[in-house]
Amino acid sequence: MTATAYFAAGQDLWEKYQPHLERAFGELGLDVTLAPHAPDPAAVAFIIFAPGGEIEDFTPYTNCRAVLNLWAGVERIVGNRTLTQPLCRMVDPALTEGMVEWVTGHVLRHHLGIDSHILNQDGIWRRDAVPPIARDRPVAMLGLGELGRACGAALAALNFPVMGWSRTARDVVGIECHSGDEGLEHVLRRAEIVVTLLPLTPETENLLDARRLGWLSQGAVIINPGRGPLIEDEALLAALDRGQVKHATLDVFRTEPLPPEHPFWAHPRVTVTPHIAAETRPASASRVVAENIRRSLANEPLLYLVDRARGY
Ligand code: NAP
Repeated sequence: MTATAYFAAGQDLWEKYQPHLERAFGELGLDVTLAPHAPDPAAVAFIIFAPGGEIEDFTPYTNCRAVLNLWAGVERIVGNRTLTQPLCRMVDPALTEGMVEWVTGHVLRHHLGIDSHILNQDGIWRRDAVPPIARDRPVAMLGLGELGRACGAALAALNFPVMGWSRTARDVVGIECHSGDEGLEHVLRRAEIVVTLLPLTPETENLLDARRLGWLSQGAVIINPGRGPLIEDEALLAALDRGQVKHATLDVFRTEPLPPEHPFWAHPRVTVTPHIAAETRPASASRVVAENIRRSLANEPLLYLVDRARGY
């Protein structure tokens, strides 16, 4: 029997994903019809979803077995009260690789003080800023999920002492793990570079507020590829202005695109990147979607199910 998968992620993504999804279904021998535009809701077995696509109301999709999100973050769908179907988020190996590269690159930029050499080509021979080696530069990884663990492992392989922080107590090889408020204070007080790879939930919104930013050691660096609202903008600007935060590299923002008048753009010690840390890649992501459809049709447990109560 043919199952219908409704691609409700928008026309732009349809063109990028269609050939890869068809190929991935073929590789798994799935008899799935891909529908790009509102098919009969009762006929839809799966919804391939991205925020800003075609569906706000999931109520009519009474026979839908799963909603398969193309994004790693689910904050724009998890609170939708019409969504009663199982929701899976995207864990794409290529997205993870991209995040590891972005985080490692930006950590090394700050660790090595690369800017001072790129921006100061003025004929002065400065040998006063030899960086420490990585083993003397503690890094905090806030979030020890798919992305935090992968980035933490890459940094630990370069000898950075990595302290991780998560909601539940974790045991991750090569990472000193912490949880709870005391754990957060412990890692923030000791880290020289803080990377935030947390999902946006009611508990993590404004996590780095004035009080917690006040725990940072003087001159710490913040790198946020998680979500903009994890950090209070005003508190971050104040921490930058008093030098407690030496630099903030931000990929994600409360409002995206970041409005041209936002003070982050002009701040000399803020680097803005336009939410490009890690993209879902259609070829590998399509294989993840296909595998979840195969599992559902075979009545096997779905991968990467979102816990609605937790919000991620
Ligand atoms: P994940 O696998 O769900 O991991 C989330 C981690 O955050 C887990 O370790 C979890 O703790 C921890 N966490 C959640 N709520 C917490 C809380 N209240 N206190 C402390 N820790 C908490 O997520 P992921 O795949 O690593 O992705 C993380 C985030 O990265 C995504 O949600 C998304 O916002 C962002 N992202 C950004 C980009 C980009 O291009 N900038 C791309 C992809 C993803 P437990 O381990 O205890 O569950």
